[in-house]
Amino acid sequence: MTKPVVTRFAPSPTGYLHIGGARTALFNWLLAKHSGGKMLLRIEDTDRSRSTEEAVDALLDGLSWLGMDWDGEPISQYSRVDRHREVAEQMVKEGTAYYCYCTPEEVNEMREKARAEGRPPRYDGTWRDRDPSEAPEGIAPAIRLKAPLEGDTIVEDQVQGTVKFANENLDDLILVRSDGNPTYMLAVVVDDHDMGVTHIVRGDDHLTNAARQTLIYKALNWDVPVMAHIPLIYGPDGAKLSKRHGAIGAEAYRAMGYLPSAMRNYLARLGWSHGDDEIFSTEQMIEWFGLDACGKSPSRFDFKKLENLNAHYMRSEGDEELYQHFLTYLMDVEGGADVMAWLAGDGNQDKFMAALPGLKERAKTLVELQESARYLWVQRPLDLDAKAEKILSDEAKAVLGKVLPALEALTDWTVESTETAVKAVAEAEELKLGKVAQPLRAALTGRGTSPGIFDVLVVLGKDESCARIRDFAA
Ligand code: GLU
Repeated sequence: MTKPVVTRFAPSPTGYLHIGGARTALFNWLLAKHSGGKMLLRIEDTDRSRSTEEAVDALLDGLSWLGMDWDGEPISQYSRVDRHREVAEQMVKEGTAYYCYCTPEEVNEMREKARAEGRPPRYDGTWRDRDPSEAPEGIAPAIRLKAPLEGDTIVEDQVQGTVKFANENLDDLILVRSDGNPTYMLAVVVDDHDMGVTHIVRGDDHLTNAARQTLIYKALNWDVPVMAHIPLIYGPDGAKLSKRHGAIGAEAYRAMGYLPSAMRNYLARLGWSHGDDEIFSTEQMIEWFGLDACGKSPSRFDFKKLENLNAHYMRSEGDEELYQHFLTYLMDVEGGADVMAWLAGDGNQDKFMAALPGLKERAKTLVELQESARYLWVQRPLDLDAKAEKILSDEAKAVLGKVLPALEALTDWTVESTETAVKAVAEAEELKLGKVAQPLRAALTGRGTSPGIFDVLVVLGKDESCARIRDFAA
């Protein structure tokens, strides 16, 4: 029987869940879900200065927003230092690691000397075979791995293929520093082993680490997990992903009005493919995901594609769900609190829900949704934008003076009845419909562009609509 799949996401807290990390988390999550396994979460919080509670919360918040859950409690790497030290001591006992009493200065000298002689800068093995009785007194030793001096270390990578590292280039790496702190290299191996991780999926910037970690696994006689190192995400120009081109945190995407469903779909396509499919539901991704379809070439981040996908998900998301996403979005953004306060008002949520089906067809993001729904909560008298200002000429105001009584006379207030009334005025005045609709739009929304004008009339209701028109009618 094969072991159930256990993946893990192991971020270092930096204050946010950056986009590359989100993609790594997604691949681990998809792999776990696909195989009916588990994804564990380990916070690599050994850098105490950066590992604040807020930084950890930002990670969990980002994952939750993206709809990725993890199994069990998040594990703190720092809380496991005693275990890391214990394993290193055990390795010393077993002869696969040794105490090294070199001072940092001595190690530096070794490196310099190697460099000067044209050799790769590495530890020269001074304490590798020296008798422990020679240990100087009063000096706390570091613990180093007794790495093989010859041969190769092979990483069988599911994405990169078979990658060979010459052992002579791999140092007798430090497992525990002389101050007693375990190194990252040791901690990752011990944690992954103890957590029962079967698959490690992470960025290919960790590929060399994979070789070093393999040495530690071998020294401990532990099974090496399946490894998959996925290419990093680059900018549209192929250069390192910059802030401007997307190297930002999940919360920034949330504030830009992207939906979690669109983000998941987009991130999955950054390095994984399923034929020519561009759009797939989360269920489909789970069903189809596999490491064999993860590409070796780096992916490029493209805001335009993300936006197009987002527009798709805006249209296809259920109204109730979209509303919930809108509320979450409002919590982050400027002016959001005001909109939320308005939504809490009597009957206002109903108004918003009535407008939503029309609004979501055209809004590519929640930012655009907020902008196009703005007419719902603005207060009379409306501020006009430059376009609306221009539309509302004296002539246009006179047209409004003609439309107003026609609308006021209506007993039935629907898209059809308002449209018939407005068309009748246009015909009587021998005007194109636009010449009537544009002034109406400006008066009702304060903007030169808006959702369909008859929808706006109906959502606002007769009283509010007529009052807004009256404010500008001549
Ligand atoms: N903490 C590492 C990082 O954020 C990941 C370590 C790993 O996945 O092995 O890059």
